[in-house]
Amino acid sequence: MIAELFKGLAVTMKHIVARKRVTVEYPEVRRKLPPRARWRHVLLRHEDGLERCIGCSLCAGACPAHCILVIAAENREGARYSPGERYAQVYEINELRCIFCGYCQDACPVEAIILRDIIDFSDYSRTAEIYTKDMLLAP
Ligand code: SF4
Ligand code: SF4
Repeated sequence: MIAELFKGLAVTMKHIVARKRVTVEYPEVRRKLPPRARWRHVLLRHEDGLERCIGCSLCAGACPAHCILVIAAENREGARYSPGERYAQVYEINELRCIFCGYCQDACPVEAIILRDIIDFSDYSRTAEIYTKDMLLAP
């Protein structure tokens, strides 16, 4: 009985002392992600501040999880959002349905959408995981 107790303690001590820790104190400590890590989406802008997205919906068409909603509208004089004729008036991604395949990024003809290494976007409600254009647009 005592011998079994010491055997168990020895195993515990071996893990505490001898083994290298595999966990980190997240979120204070963050592991560097691989360079090709693809997580939360970002909608990019041109250098002059205009949105890259032209509302073509090719990303939504390529998405196997059907989690992108694009509603396009015409740019008008005095209300120009993108360099093209149209812009995305509504752009939403349901991150809960997304499988992070990157097809949307590959399909975009103007490199407007990109999956970045942003991993901390968990929330307590399902609706909070529907990312709107304002949430996705780069500042
Ligand atoms: S990463 Fe894949 S699943 Fe997610 S929005 Fe893009 S195409 Fe859809
Ligand atoms: S993100 Fe790219 S593919 Fe999607 S609607 Fe905008 S321009 Fe088209």
